[in-house]
Parts: sequence; C-alpha cells; structure tokens
Amino acid sequence: MPTKKVFLIGAGPGDLELLTLKAIRALERADVLLIDDLVDREVIGLARKDVRVIEVGKRGGCRSTPQRFIERLMIRLARAGRTVARVKGGDPFVFGRGGEEVSALRAAGIDVGVVNGITAGIAAPAAIGIPVTHRECTRGVTLVTGHTRDGSAPDWAALARTGTTLVIYMGMSTLPAIIAGLQAGGMPAHMPVAVIQNATLPHQRSVVSTLSQASSDVTASGLGSPAIVVIGEVVRFAATNAEPVRQVA
Ligand code: SAH
Repeated sequence: MPTKKVFLIGAGPGDLELLTLKAIRALERADVLLIDDLVDREVIGLARKDVRVIEVGKRGGCRSTPQRFIERLMIRLARAGRTVARVKGGDPFVFGRGGEEVSALRAAGIDVGVVNGITAGIAAPAAIGIPVTHRECTRGVTLVTGHTRDGSAPDWAALARTGTTLVIYMGMSTLPAIIAGLQAGGMPAHMPVAVIQNATLPHQRSVVSTLSQASSDVTASGLGSPAIVVIGEVVRFAATNAEPVRQVA
C-alpha cells in the first residue's frame, strides 16, 4: 500500500462558511479525519459518508490526547495507505502545533499538505467590526499567546511599547497579569480593549472595555474561553450593535 498524504487543514474560527475551497476539497479526499475540539463538528458533514472520525481534543486543562500520540497515529494511518485530514481550528500554523506536526511527518517521510484557515485572531475582531490594522491608529499587529507551555509570560511591558494592535490568544486565565504588565509598560488606562468569545458562531459574545476596566467587565459578563483579547486604538471601530457589555467612551 503506497503511503498517502496528510493534510493539515485550518477550519477557521467556527463559522463553516469561512472554510476555504481548498479545505473542503481536502476534506472530501480524506479516509480519516482527526478533529481538534475547537473545530465545529459540522465539518464532518463535508467529508465522505464513510469517513472515519477520530476526536483528538487538546484543550488546556481538560482530558486531551498527547501530541506525540497524535503524530504517531497520523504516521501509522498514512503508512497504512489512508489519506488523513488533520482538522484544526483557525489556521494550523498559528498557535496550532502545525509546525510540530509537519516536522514529525516529514521526518517519517510522509507527504504533508498545509491548508491555511482564517485565524481567530483576525476573524474574532472582524466579527465585531474591528480591523486589526488601520492607517489612522496603528503600525501593525502582534499575535501573541497569553499562555505558554512552560508558564513563562511574554514581555507585556515591551509589547505595550510597540504601538501595534495586540491580539492575544489563550489569554483569559491570565488577563489580570497581562493588563498589569501592559500598564507597567506605560499603556494608558483608557486604551480600548475588546474580548470576543466563540467568534463567528451563533453563541458569539463580546465585551468592549478599557485597559483599567477590562478585568472587572470580563468577570461581570461571564465571558470565558475560547476568546480573543484585542488591545489597541483599533477597538474604537467596534460595531455598536455587537452587544458589548460596556461601550468605549
Ligand atoms: N490555530 C488557532 C488558534 C488555536 S489556540 C487559530 O489560528 O485561530 C486556541 C485559542 O484560539 C483559544 O484559546 C482562543 O484564544 C482562540 N480561538 C479559537 N477559536 C476562537 C473563536 N471562535 N473565538 C474566539 N477565540 C478563538
């Protein structure tokens, strides 16, 4: 049996209509789907009727499938002649461990195709009308994680000084520490902040606040993961009909 291909597919932030045509075509070719827990189960309906589905949730803190196990499983399936679709939320190469998986597959001599998806860090702000860059107010955008494997934190004070929009993934559990670090770096208390949970899905919720109020507003709203935190002047463009708990003054 010739070794088949593995596709690392980005499923986008949630709304199925944000899948790319390339993702749909790769899904249609797959014999086996390996699905992450942030991926809407409706993607299964886009694959072949006889497709085998393996759920490999990896959400922090919950029961999850070890990364090495997932890599070995993909290698075994590909060597057994199966075409594998590894379906991940957002983009597979943005905080998605796609890089680790590509390395493991290549080391095993397996052909890998990467299919980009729309990353939550851009889709979530857009879902409430926020452009991550805007010529009037920012020089760029920084995508950063609030949660690292070894527990170390990004240098928030330094990030505050970049003048870029900060888009924070996995930042909900450390939000107070993130805000304290940004304030230590000189970010003003009135800097607009938006938090968008379950972006692009029917149960999307968001809060628009300021740096000094964001922690208490998020707690009051009950928002939790998965959410994107956006910090920067661009948050002023948030649509007023996005059901914010607090409006930017
Ligand atoms: N590869 C993914 C990110 C995986 S890390 C991507 O490119 O989007 C998981 C984090 O992504 C979550 O903790 C959350 O911060 C963010 N996230 C993923 N889907 C989201 C959604 N629908 N709404 C808000 N945040 C989301």
